[in-house]
Amino acid sequence: MPRAVALFSGGLDSILAVRILQEQGFDVDALCIRTFYSSCRSAAEEAAAVLGVKLTVLPVGEDYVEVIRNPLYGYGKGVNPCVDCRIYMCRMAGRLMEELGACMVITGEVVGQRPMSQKRQHLEVIARRSGLEGRLLRPLSAKLLPPTIPEQEMLVDRRRLYDFSGRGRRGLIALAESLGISKIPTPSSGCTLAEPSFAGRVRDLLQFCPDAARWDFELLNHGRHFRFDEQTKIVIARSATDNDALRSMATREDAPEVKVLIPLGFRGPGAVVVGHIGEPALAFAGALILRYAGHSKPEEAEVRVGGSEAGWVIKAKRDTAAESATPL
Ligand code: SF4
Repeated sequence: MPRAVALFSGGLDSILAVRILQEQGFDVDALCIRTFYSSCRSAAEEAAAVLGVKLTVLPVGEDYVEVIRNPLYGYGKGVNPCVDCRIYMCRMAGRLMEELGACMVITGEVVGQRPMSQKRQHLEVIARRSGLEGRLLRPLSAKLLPPTIPEQEMLVDRRRLYDFSGRGRRGLIALAESLGISKIPTPSSGCTLAEPSFAGRVRDLLQFCPDAARWDFELLNHGRHFRFDEQTKIVIARSATDNDALRSMATREDAPEVKVLIPLGFRGPGAVVVGHIGEPALAFAGALILRYAGHSKPEEAEVRVGGSEAGWVIKAKRDTAAESATPL
């Protein structure tokens, strides 16, 4: 049975791409890629089980930092380097294709569906720069694109591929129904990089931290971020989940210089200070903790620095600069 690797998010388009190739007798392996800011894992697991395909979930590597930092094809509305990101993902899928002895990679991309990465010329760029030219098939728009090698070799019947274009979903939903797909997922990019409201903290990191690594980029997922000075940033938890996430990030092996701050004897958020950790930065972090301390809002309170018995205690005070500071 011929084999294909599908870049798979569990969204409608990738489900359709898999089902179309299954209809043509292909054994499809689904690949879901986790970036620092998107995880399609649960949707992909559910959809892969329905389709009866094996799912591999892989995280992006440390080199994904460069995709965010220096995208050759620029950003979308947020700080989303979609064209470069798709090239990166297609390279990963290409490596899996070779490992498995599959003959192509398939994706659910539709010409013109997304403003950035799915313009026709970008689809061609993605195929070429990922090294998959001729081996990257988009079954939903294949009739609008040059025939791939599996089509030329008649492994894939081009007549049974499609010519969808644009943003409309009606035709895709009708196709799903005709292929027996009853559960239609709602569309979602699922990637915070694409949200304009997230862009400020990414831009801040790119500006002030030219050596930022995976840890720094992943920290952006948690809490409210405040720039204290060029070398120092403060992150205040917004929830119990953030508290746990910040503490766990601070103890990771790849963590840079970082201190955890915990309120003592009052209800308030935890925080981390990253970078150059001097007394002024700790005092400002303490004042921010008091600002977000909910109903109690003490004028002064104790905060433990270090997050454990081995740490030390500072006296935090309310402060007008912290009260009016704007999160990134
Ligand atoms: S939305 Fe995010 S995960 Fe999707 S292609 Fe763009 S940058 Fe990559």
